[in-house]
Amino acid sequence: MYKNTEEYMRRSWAEVDLDVLVNNYRIYREHLPEPAEIMAVVKANAYGHGSRPAANALQDAGVRHFAVASLQEAVKLREYGIRGEILILGYTSPAGCATLMEYDIVQALVSEEHAEAMASAAAGLAGNGKGPLKCHFAIDTGMNRIGLDAEDPEHCAEVLRRFSSCPDISLCGIFTHLCTADTDDEESVLFTLRQRQLFDGVRQAASDLDLPECHCLNSAGGLTFPANEDAYVRLGIILYGLKPDYSNVLPEGIRPVLEWKSTVALVKTLLPGETVGYGRTFRADREMKVATIPTGYADGYSRALSNRGYVLIRGKRAKVVGRVCMDQMMVDVTGIPDVRMGDQVVLLGRSGDEYLSADDMAQMTGTIGYELVCDISGRVLRIYKGSGK
Ligand SMILES: *Cc1c(COP(=O)(O)O)cnc(C)c1O
Repeated sequence: MYKNTEEYMRRSWAEVDLDVLVNNYRIYREHLPEPAEIMAVVKANAYGHGSRPAANALQDAGVRHFAVASLQEAVKLREYGIRGEILILGYTSPAGCATLMEYDIVQALVSEEHAEAMASAAAGLAGNGKGPLKCHFAIDTGMNRIGLDAEDPEHCAEVLRRFSSCPDISLCGIFTHLCTADTDDEESVLFTLRQRQLFDGVRQAASDLDLPECHCLNSAGGLTFPANEDAYVRLGIILYGLKPDYSNVLPEGIRPVLEWKSTVALVKTLLPGETVGYGRTFRADREMKVATIPTGYADGYSRALSNRGYVLIRGKRAKVVGRVCMDQMMVDVTGIPDVRMGDQVVLLGRSGDEYLSADDMAQMTGTIGYELVCDISGRVLRIYKGSGK
């Protein structure tokens, strides 16, 4: 599949284990408070893991619902052979209407104005034999991002009725998004319960429509709250083995799917007083050994990890010294014997008894594992292990 794989591999690469991905999906399902379908969220190139192999492995494992963030991502999934339902979770321009119909993609409606624009775009295309446009209406239960305001359920129901009876739109469901389901302090739990209550209020007000697909749970919510009458849980981050919030404890057996590796380009000795990298932000206070690694911020290794992060070499931690460059970085290998050109460097994953997860690394720069894996750039070759079966 990849030409010269060996050659690329010696620079910076990610190993994605599809068996772990499918296993995470199965374990998660078993841990749901009650049985529910899963909608696999594979937006942003499956959180950096590669949407083609990830979605196909999940489809082979029985997943029939997928979610993405953009029309482009949705069309790609169809081209990759994904047959089930594909839902776009946010705004798409009405100009995308023909493509949505052509590829049989379900679109989220984010406001009344958006719904009207989509309906008239769909009406303009009526007669092409493809419509009506399948849609789920977003309901805002407190995140203030997208959707009809659930504080007024009667108005929501009226809008839902209006678009349900529109011949160019097929309204199949409503959904909301929980914004604090990943934390278990009392205020957050109460807020989530309130969000659920508001959503149910809209569902009841519009019960005459019998919408088949109502859903509100993300990874975190699915583990804590029963799915009630929800059509499915929208499962993202935990599928990839990462935590919604650093404080979460994942079900036993769920593991990160991706490991990120690089290699030692060279090792050099620094004398006391010598400095490393741009801006000379690191100064050796003793004789040191420093290794140069051919991975930098253009590969997605955050520059915020300058003088902060660490990598694993021969089962030991090596601290980043100096600023992370665009394509390279330097690490302190003084305490690690015999490091030499070509040694494997683990940026994320296991080396000997040491383990560094994306969640841990994200903590070092005040971000979340989600952002970290999404940022691993296209220059980092993905290598797939396992068949997912
Ligand atoms: C991204 C997204 C999800 C998945 O969230 P996770 O926390 O990764 O499980 C679910 N629903 C919506 C609307 C999203 O945008």
